[in-house]
Amino acid sequence: MSRSKREIDKELMYKKLMPSGSSAIRAAEEERTPAPKAPPAAPFPAAVQQEDAFHRPPVPRRVSIPALDNHPMVVVNTMESLVLQKLGSVLERFSCCRCDRCKKDIVALALNKLPPKYRVMAEGQAVPDADPQTNAQIVSAMIQAVIKVRANPRH
Ligand SMILES: [Zn+2]
Repeated sequence: MSRSKREIDKELMYKKLMPSGSSAIRAAEEERTPAPKAPPAAPFPAAVQQEDAFHRPPVPRRVSIPALDNHPMVVVNTMESLVLQKLGSVLERFSCCRCDRCKKDIVALALNKLPPKYRVMAEGQAVPDADPQTNAQIVSAMIQAVIKVRANPRH
């Protein structure tokens, strides 16, 4: 049986004050504190019901959309597609190195400055042109990326 620190402290104090009577007082105190009752056991049928709920086999669900099943659809970041489309012309305009590493660095830097724009499209479908404002945003991000890569190429 565990006793709280307070009870132990009290006992030590009693021992100091009256070395002969401490155990008698403790016994009397223990008699006054009722033993904690065990929580009432759950009724048997409820327990069985809960068990059933946990072990019920999962109901298979159809997640695919039948109309799209014949057409392979893909999720495309159209921002990435647009950056890749413009890469050639931007490299030419700014006479930047065209090695693989520099091209990839430019694309990564530009995409980190642009918000992603995802679309679900049929595989192979062309990405539609962006509005003029988005186009300007893309070109600006790419020019900044080219300047950075040109100043510090990692090839
Ligand atoms: Zn390079």
